[in-house]
Amino acid sequence: MLPSLTGLSHEELTSWLKEQGEPAFRANQILDWMWKKKADSIDAMSNLPATLRAKLTSSFRLASLTHTHTQGSADTTRKFLFKLHDGRYVESVLIPANPALYGGTSDRRTLCVSSQVGCAYGCKFCASGLAGFTRNLDASEIAGQVLAAEQLSNERVDNIVFMGMGEPLANINNLLAAINLITNEKTLHLGARHLTISTSGLVPQIRQLAEHPQQIRLAISLHGATDEIRQQIMPVNRKWPLAELFDALDYWNSRKNQKLTLEYILIENINDSLEQATILARVARRLHAKVNLIPYNTVEGLEWKRPNDKQCRAFRDIVKNAGVQATLRLEKGHDIDAACGQLRLKQETAEGIIR
Ligand code: SF4
Repeated sequence: MLPSLTGLSHEELTSWLKEQGEPAFRANQILDWMWKKKADSIDAMSNLPATLRAKLTSSFRLASLTHTHTQGSADTTRKFLFKLHDGRYVESVLIPANPALYGGTSDRRTLCVSSQVGCAYGCKFCASGLAGFTRNLDASEIAGQVLAAEQLSNERVDNIVFMGMGEPLANINNLLAAINLITNEKTLHLGARHLTISTSGLVPQIRQLAEHPQQIRLAISLHGATDEIRQQIMPVNRKWPLAELFDALDYWNSRKNQKLTLEYILIENINDSLEQATILARVARRLHAKVNLIPYNTVEGLEWKRPNDKQCRAFRDIVKNAGVQATLRLEKGHDIDAACGQLRLKQETAEGIIR
């Protein structure tokens, strides 16, 4: 399989052109065709000489993913399913407006991007972990989701959350290469402040990311305010318990200006006690973090339940009354298999890739 042209940075493309005896300025033209004009074939790059287009065609494929399915409609959340070169699937979710989650104005479009096929971390609420880990996505497959979502929707993506399938920090090198493609002025040119990486809490990579020069935002899938509760939900907590995680987050705070987000899925009788709310508020204050409360969405094959709205509000009020910025999303997303990984799981199961 030929490599994807969209995976090449400006430097890599310039060096390939040099090897081919082509002038360096062609790199800007090619990047412009791919990322700005959103060309759907190498042949469409009409200001390149035919000989160069032929060389490109014999060395690269243009796109790294093929769109196969969309769930949802233009004015609601849309989920795109993409097929990869090896027959695997990933999904991205385009959310038309989400000011309650990450701030900003109501006309922002947020894309939730996948970073791996499957996931090894096995968080108990998550469909992506159900079939285990298959492979990392490369940079072109990660950044290509943004390009494809813009092509399919004919809209500009303003915010990106790395919160789809996979643990992004377990694939940190490809993730950072993709972020370069997303933020570079010659490619998608989206500000790093509009990018949020959501992690289950990989401590060494949080420290590594704290050293990264760009002001990327960080969200932590917390889902439990004590080790005892959290490790029922997130196996990763056995490797990096909360004390180590919070130390890494203190370090993050010492290096970055961006406010952390703590994600907390409310699950009935598991982590929704008001005692957990009180401890969560204490943690959030220590970390100067905001809290995003998400009532659990039922996942096929999993047993947990969503608490009633009254309990969700009571939980939120305790956190808020402690002086912490907290949001609670009470709307439901069951209709489009909104939990990450569900659409891909259905497709791969139907094709017999997952049994
Ligand atoms: S929540 Fe994220 S880290 Fe946890 S299993 Fe799902 S994809 Fe993996």
